Amino acid sequence: MRNLFVALIALGFLFNDNTLLSQTELQKPKLGILLVFDQLRGDYISRWQDHFVKDGFLRLTSEGTWFENCHYPYSGTVTGAGHATLTTGATPSIHGIVGNEWYDRTEGKSSYCAGSFRWTSMPPLPEAIAAPGTTVKVRGSGTPEKLRSETLGDALKRSTNNQGKVVALSFKDRSSVLPAGMKPDYCYWFDNSSGKFHTSTYYSNKIAPWLSDFNESKFIDQWRNKSWEKLYPDKDYKPFSGIDEQTGEGNGKNQGKFFPHPFGKTEKDYYDALYNSPFGNDVLLELAMKAIKAEKLGKNAQPDMLLISFSSNDSVGHSWGPDSQEVFDTTLRTDLLIRNLLLYLDKEVGKNNYVIALSADHGICPLPEVSKVKGLEAGRLATDKFAKEIEAALQEKFGKPTAPAKYLEAFSDTSAYLNYATLKANSINLDDATAFIKTWASSQPAILKAYTSKEINLASNSSDPLLVSVSKSWFKGRSGDICFILKPYYIPGAYLTGTTHGSPHTYDTHVPLIAFGGGIKNLLIKDKVSPQLAASIIAEGIGISTPASAEFTSPKEIWQERK
Ligand SMILES: [Zn+2]
Repeated sequence: MRNLFVALIALGFLFNDNTLLSQTELQKPKLGILLVFDQLRGDYISRWQDHFVKDGFLRLTSEGTWFENCHYPYSGTVTGAGHATLTTGATPSIHGIVGNEWYDRTEGKSSYCAGSFRWTSMPPLPEAIAAPGTTVKVRGSGTPEKLRSETLGDALKRSTNNQGKVVALSFKDRSSVLPAGMKPDYCYWFDNSSGKFHTSTYYSNKIAPWLSDFNESKFIDQWRNKSWEKLYPDKDYKPFSGIDEQTGEGNGKNQGKFFPHPFGKTEKDYYDALYNSPFGNDVLLELAMKAIKAEKLGKNAQPDMLLISFSSNDSVGHSWGPDSQEVFDTTLRTDLLIRNLLLYLDKEVGKNNYVIALSADHGICPLPEVSKVKGLEAGRLATDKFAKEIEAALQEKFGKPTAPAKYLEAFSDTSAYLNYATLKANSINLDDATAFIKTWASSQPAILKAYTSKEINLASNSSDPLLVSVSKSWFKGRSGDICFILKPYYIPGAYLTGTTHGSPHTYDTHVPLIAFGGGIKNLLIKDKVSPQLAASIIAEGIGISTPASAEFTSPKEIWQERK
């Protein structure tokens, strides 16, 4: 935008007093869409392309620009960080969302990336309403206040003098809150306990009529007393994903390890199981279509923004793993969802009147047990136990602390936070303590590397790519004193089944990035890029400023010549 702005001035274009955008830019698409599929790993599109319909993923790749080698450049590949990165164009070291949660030293407790106890659910959640004469502990609710960078939603508001609309939708609060930014028109997410979408008092004291209507409709009930069956019952999924019941698979939400997967009988079980099935995505698609129509997205005087993140791919992947028939089936259904969304956008918004950047917030590690069957070294690291071992090692080295507190104050994700008061009281230098832990960690079977905050702070000059990726996930005041990187195919957590993500290894960093819609050329780009590009592509596509902290400008080669 900045370059275009300068060029237009140089050519003598004058801006109409009543609009912030020039006539030339108004010919650009009027709706920018950030389309996220949570945990849709980068290899799925090529791995399963023979099973897709012609006008879903394949329409995107045959008409748009597919960056097939797109990787997050940082180590903490989790949902909060990914969504903040996609929408700000910056890394966690800049936007501050280093994880889904981190340890807050000032508060002395865990801090959630997209919520605060200052805000409550709107409408109020059933359990948050106190019976007469009693009080209930009000749970925290969604807010973007911990973001330290402008998002696509903020950039749209700034560029259109608040005239353009910003709508953010997801099942997960953080996947709606972080992309939306500070002042979206609507920011909604799903409540598993009530089966309704809601917002928080940070945003508004009421919800849109179209959301009330949707919440009151029976759309979400259509899978009751049914089961999740395979999309293609006669197709043998095994050659493309693996056997249906593999060692290490989870049970879902009481859904079992193999098809068909029943939905729960109670309200809560039903919504949990719906979320943990591809049909959660169908619910969100229906809501998105209602929003597009009701808000006339793409048909208003200024450009609008739709930030939509489908969460069920992630839930299914955590339960059954990336090589499961469940993830294969969910991806095939995602393909159909994309077809339906594109057809709806063509009809409702107009072909070439929207521009999409499709991506994911992270990938996923194979189930350790499946990796072992393939002969790979793999495992699970119980982080609670690991934290206790760190404390024991510190006490063995430095002696029992004289202060009542332990040396280790907290352990969050794969980072350790030392207790500065305890270190001081025992005359131990922080650098000595972290250097000791680093050496100790090198003999731990699950650990590939450990980096101290001192090393991370000097990483800009480093030739160690792993250290550089850790530094891009490190934010002063939020990150720990020492960061552990697990060996490939090892996962952290106490669970004995299922899998997770959050590492700098390629199965976690590789995500799709496809730009599609008005003005985008058909290209296959093999160069390694970062999903950070999504923010600048959408901004360029609809002619608004890129978010202020975006690291990259939109690649010139993907754009058609404008008349
Ligand atoms: Zn995620």
